[in-house]
Amino acid sequence: MKHLLGTDGLDPDTARVILDTAEGLKKTLLGREVKKLPTLRGRTVITLFYEDSTRTRVSFEIAGKWMSADVVNVSAKGSSVKKGESLRDTALTLAAAGADCVIVRHPASGAAHRLASWLSHTNTSVVNAGDGTHEHPTQALLDMATLRERLGGVEGRRIAIVGDVLHSRVARSNVHLLTSFGAEVVLVAPPTLLPTAVGDWPVGAAGSLVVSHDLDPELPTLDAVMLLRVQAERMHGGFFPSAREYSIAYGLNEARASLLPEHAVVLHPGPMLRGMEISHAVADSARAAITEQVTNGVHVRMAVLYHLLAGEEDAA
Ligand code: ASP
Repeated sequence: MKHLLGTDGLDPDTARVILDTAEGLKKTLLGREVKKLPTLRGRTVITLFYEDSTRTRVSFEIAGKWMSADVVNVSAKGSSVKKGESLRDTALTLAAAGADCVIVRHPASGAAHRLASWLSHTNTSVVNAGDGTHEHPTQALLDMATLRERLGGVEGRRIAIVGDVLHSRVARSNVHLLTSFGAEVVLVAPPTLLPTAVGDWPVGAAGSLVVSHDLDPELPTLDAVMLLRVQAERMHGGFFPSAREYSIAYGLNEARASLLPEHAVVLHPGPMLRGMEISHAVADSARAAITEQVTNGVHVRMAVLYHLLAGEEDAA
């Protein structure tokens, strides 16, 4: 594997190997005071973020550092991007400076693919850390790691993805990965927050995808519910009457959560808008796996870096 650009195009066997590696790394590091492994010593990993981030950027940095890679963080705000440098020139500069891997987040869908094509003559790997409304593959992998831990797997499970599907790269990456692993995914959103072409989304052959506009009847049938942030920064116009009305129809509060089966898990990729998509009580309840998702994010990103930068060498 040279790049990780999306879950569409990531075959389920490779995804399984990454998840197994992440699980192994988590077990290895559990309870250790010193978390450094020597695996990527001498490798250079650069995060290149054109959009804000807390979890993704920090966990990639921690992942690289725990594997002993040299990690450099470039944010568009403090770089020559501000002086008008293009994405292509920035990418070529980072590769020329010695990046073994560029982890990119960009507001344009397709940006990570473009970067990979511009760097095809180099040995630099590209990881998509979120491109516009398109894909966020490591988020889907860490969500899968969390569901495997909580539910033992997703095959035959019914999982709802609720909220702003229209602007969510998390939803798209998850639909493909979850269905590839045999889950039935139900997208729950008001019609204004569902892409018109959702029927054309890539769906894994082992699972299925359905759509609903009504959350309450779905709740008792679910094994997991993944809430999406309402992405105001991508909204130009009114997609729902008010935050209060959104919350009344789609917010997961205690009364709604009580309709879920006992074992059902609540996920949120973060950042959470408490009081809008999720209530304080549900976010802090035992069924919420939100901080576990963050922890798993570090191990999954370690596993991704391992397979991109050391995996094949080790196998050889
Ligand atoms: N952190 C996720 C992303 O970057 C979800 C979100 O921002 O709502 O896509």
